[in-house]
Amino acid sequence: MSITVRAAAKINLHLGVGRARDDGFHPLDTVYQAIGIHDDLTLTQADRLSLTTRVADHIDPAAVPDGADNIVLRAARALAAHHGVTASGAFEVRKDIPVAGGMAGGSADAAAALVACDRLWDLHTSDDDLLALAAGLGSDVPFSLVGGTARGLGRGELVTPVDDGGAWWWVAVPSTAGLSTPDVYRHFDALRPDAPEVPASAEPVLAALASREPVRLARALHNDLQEPAVDLRPELGDLIDLGEAEGALRGMVSGSGPTVVFLCDSAEGARETAGALAGAGHGVVLTATGPVAGAHVLA
Ligand code: ATP
Repeated sequence: MSITVRAAAKINLHLGVGRARDDGFHPLDTVYQAIGIHDDLTLTQADRLSLTTRVADHIDPAAVPDGADNIVLRAARALAAHHGVTASGAFEVRKDIPVAGGMAGGSADAAAALVACDRLWDLHTSDDDLLALAAGLGSDVPFSLVGGTARGLGRGELVTPVDDGGAWWWVAVPSTAGLSTPDVYRHFDALRPDAPEVPASAEPVLAALASREPVRLARALHNDLQEPAVDLRPELGDLIDLGEAEGALRGMVSGSGPTVVFLCDSAEGARETAGALAGAGHGVVLTATGPVAGAHVLA
């Protein structure tokens, strides 16, 4: 018996970052959107716990840990411990979401693993317990369960779905130039010692989403981590300028980067921008729509 669960990449339409708290975490006010770039996780009954990962051409297989460090196995063990059962099964993950790109690929896999184990092991975990387990695995994991478009508060783990009647077109350009999330936050602290305790509110993006007007959303997009990310990797700023010159309504660093996403006005606009960026030598250029569903069973 086996089960396949699909989980989506996320982008942040708004990422307001406040001054670091005493425990080192930065308070966030963020709006996530799940977009149509997916990882598929298949769990097959087996006596032992095992994991294999197959990656798309644009992903370096060495970037994905294959042992106990993989968040899929951590998620399986956390759910098993919660219920006092033994974790077992053969996981196979097919990855399309860029790794360490600020698109929550690991978080998507963790959410998919929670859903798959809950079903295959017949545990009937409550939504509240699944969300709490997800938050224990990482700040973005609860959103990966919920999907769609949602506001995230706290460290981003307190998610509430928001009204988003739009169908938004995105172009995503992953980068091989590493940019670690802790480095970007450290640089944020250095550049913004005066950052407010309360992060910038997501309200303008929420209003733009409700309007369903791409030009309005383009104006409202906001990411406090863009400045430190571009300061550390100036080529990301050049990429944003190029995409905007090639017809995108707005380019933005995704989360802590280094992936850059572009909001376009239509499917055709996204194809044109993607074609121009690929023509300019950016090897991997992905197009996607959002919002899409959170982690859900395919078969
Ligand atoms: P976020 O946007 O949530 O900050 P990210 O997209 O920047 O995340 P991930 O793709 O989730 O980054 O990977 C971050 C790190 O997690 C990787 O460098 C990798 O070492 C580790 N990792 C563990 N399990 C996985 C997994 N299943 N897929 C990808 N990375 C994983």
